[in-house]
Amino acid sequence: MSQSGKAGQPAVEPDPGSTSPAQRQDTRLDTYVDRYAERAHGMKASAVRALFAVANRPEVVSLAGGMPNIADLPLNVVADGLKDMVLEIGPQAMQYGSGQGEPMLREQICEVMSLEGISADPDDVTITVGSQQALDLLTRIFCDPGDVVLAEAPSYVGALNTFGAYETTVVHVGMDDDGLDPVALREALVRLQQSGQRAKFLYTIPNFQNPAAVTQPVARRKEILAIAEEFDLLIIEDNPYGLLRLSGDPLPAMRAFDSDRVIYLGSFSKTFAPGFRVGWVLAPHAVREKLVLAQEAATLCPPVFSQFAVSSYLSNHDWKGQIESFKSMYLTRRDAMLSGLAEHMPTGTTWTHPDGGFFVWLTLPEGLDSQAMLPRAVSNRVAYVPGTAFYADGLGTRNMRLSYCFPTPERILEGTRRLGDVLAREAEL
Ligand code: PMP
Repeated sequence: MSQSGKAGQPAVEPDPGSTSPAQRQDTRLDTYVDRYAERAHGMKASAVRALFAVANRPEVVSLAGGMPNIADLPLNVVADGLKDMVLEIGPQAMQYGSGQGEPMLREQICEVMSLEGISADPDDVTITVGSQQALDLLTRIFCDPGDVVLAEAPSYVGALNTFGAYETTVVHVGMDDDGLDPVALREALVRLQQSGQRAKFLYTIPNFQNPAAVTQPVARRKEILAIAEEFDLLIIEDNPYGLLRLSGDPLPAMRAFDSDRVIYLGSFSKTFAPGFRVGWVLAPHAVREKLVLAQEAATLCPPVFSQFAVSSYLSNHDWKGQIESFKSMYLTRRDAMLSGLAEHMPTGTTWTHPDGGFFVWLTLPEGLDSQAMLPRAVSNRVAYVPGTAFYADGLGTRNMRLSYCFPTPERILEGTRRLGDVLAREAEL
């Protein structure tokens, strides 16, 4: 299955409740409307956004947001590290820095990537403001308005937003239980070729895909790489969850098999904390040069203080042990969600069984519409993200994304019970 459409989706990641007043403003009241660039007209708050403000109330179990649960972090250790850092290298850490990012952190990032089979030169790493900015810079340097980018169906809403902001055309490529479907990919590439078009890149999330929660086995990764070779296709591999594997064997990243064709994105948002906003891109040398120029134009340099903070955390703390601790916390939550769904979902509902990451992707029985029923779910004190948020073309009405990362296992169980009630009532409507 493959569909296409203009990107430009609601920003429901990672905190769907954080709508600014400006975003809630009715565009008819916006007296600046005829001054905006074309690309700004596509930036619209979604209809479901207002509901998420309600969903953030304590009585609602929110299975919507994808916020990492960082309560587990030893704050005293982080605080001591920050204090030492300010006292020892404060003037450097609070100064402007390199557009490419701090050399020491780039070396440490190479060590992090080696855990997923990647061998890299720190000189090919560019630090970004989360991997979200990596998506922005890459789209900026590769895409003109109207260019085609390929993305899984469904795909990460933040990436779709970025692709929309640069006025690209997203062509979705179907998935199966093993992630991106090579047959669908080949079909999409042939169709593009026949119409004289060429995709600028394929955007893929091989591990614990957001939102579908499926993982590409090694053979699948190699198959996709072979197709990319055949069609001379560039791949952006987005891997923020790879180290959060909860079951099954760790797999090498796609980038481990190909250093010319794969641009790799990593992030400390899930393995440390998202508030530092530190992510990175590993790209072939020429692309890296463009990225640094784009980074300088966007921010002069990525936040130096954050980079030193992350670097000092990696140097002075058992960060691998911390990841293990995060994993056991997420494992309990995932299992609570899977057992809650098994107990409470009505017949005809199916869902994915993730080996890691934060999400479960649910498919509703025929005839139910996840977006239409969201207000009723919120009234029943449970929230989720409707599947349509993850498509550039309005598909996904029978799907929803459920996150198990943030609520406690007890709340997750309660949330699935409430969701089960809502679905049972919907089926009667
Ligand atoms: N890619 C994916 C697949 C994500 O799920 C997220 C965050 N939810 C990001 C990128 C962005 O992460 P960050 O900017 O915090 O590194």
